[in-house]
Amino acid sequence: MGIEKTAMRPCPICNETRVEILHRLHFHLARNTPLPEAYDLVGCPHCGFVYADTTGNQADYDRYYTEFSRYEDAATASGGADNEADARRLEETARWLEKHIAPEMRVMDIGCGNGGLLKALSRRGAPIRASGIDPAPRCVRRLIDEGFAAHPGHLAHLPENCGTHDLIILSHVLEHVVNLSGALLAVRRLLAPHGKLYVETPDASRYHLENLPPFYFFDPEHINHFDAASLKCLGAKNAWRTTDCIEKTILLPNDRRYPAVGLILEPDDSASAHELDGTALKEKIAAYVALSRQKSRDAEASLANAVLNRPVVLWGAGSQAQRLLESSPLKQARIVAVVDRDSNKQGQFFAHCMIQPPEKGLRHLPENTLVVIAAATHAETIRNEVATIDERLPCFIP
Ligand SMILES: [Zn+2]
Repeated sequence: MGIEKTAMRPCPICNETRVEILHRLHFHLARNTPLPEAYDLVGCPHCGFVYADTTGNQADYDRYYTEFSRYEDAATASGGADNEADARRLEETARWLEKHIAPEMRVMDIGCGNGGLLKALSRRGAPIRASGIDPAPRCVRRLIDEGFAAHPGHLAHLPENCGTHDLIILSHVLEHVVNLSGALLAVRRLLAPHGKLYVETPDASRYHLENLPPFYFFDPEHINHFDAASLKCLGAKNAWRTTDCIEKTILLPNDRRYPAVGLILEPDDSASAHELDGTALKEKIAAYVALSRQKSRDAEASLANAVLNRPVVLWGAGSQAQRLLESSPLKQARIVAVVDRDSNKQGQFFAHCMIQPPEKGLRHLPENTLVVIAAATHAETIRNEVATIDERLPCFIP
């Protein structure tokens, strides 16, 4: 497979430093984003884990999730059950977790966003004492307003005063964390005796099976790529035993599917670090990389042709735009405006433009402007929104 190198970030599961490069990713980020604009996606030859060899440290990521959170704006974020697909996903998770919940249990969701999972759990059978921690101030404020106990904080700096808990939830959190062993240790300090930990992440062993834009699963935020085996291994290396596991498929808008895996872990100092044969995962991710490269090449000519010699408005400043601006013909396009629905993104500088709300940014455009829609799962919906704002504006979905 790829070329070997010495990692800047040793394998976060087994600490191996010699790794194999699977792909190099480049991102165009909004001005002042405290994350690196490129990293190598690497595979560990020892345990088989695949991760981003990022130069960013935990403090950079912590600052990013506090200041640049895309989980705050209820209109655009996931995690708050504020749209149908997200509500269904959280409802299903709550239903599966029910067997692990007893009345009056203290349940803590770390990285709770707008608290959709806590609310779904609270609506089900047993009454629980629910609380959440999130780095984004607006999420914490919203939860408190809705009557939950909520604290600002993140895994590397958990609040001191939030007690211990019988069930701790890390749902779509660990794929964002630089220091995984440190995170699991911190969680353990918040766990009551006989407590359990629920971990859910994307399932990297199924990336290659889904029909999503090329490299969709690789972005500046997701720096660890787990499957059930690597999560179990991470647990075992840090003295946690896996006692339950579920493979899930999250339904996204427009029939897109998002593979995920969930595990219940319980502290167990005798949990032996079983050697992981992770070659299967590395090969599946390598296949996904090859497929993504092919798809990108196939799409290049039509995008180059579409943006040639005309002004372009970019709708979307999220991870798809961040990738396309660095590694597609969009890099050469003359971008005259950038719009995004996420109110947290509005006002930031991206592609030399200040991100504006669509209603503002799509007005008074030069003749012959094209709207390029960089959104992985709801591009069709956006095309309709563009038409509502100005029906003469042509759109292109890369
Ligand atoms: Zn490793």
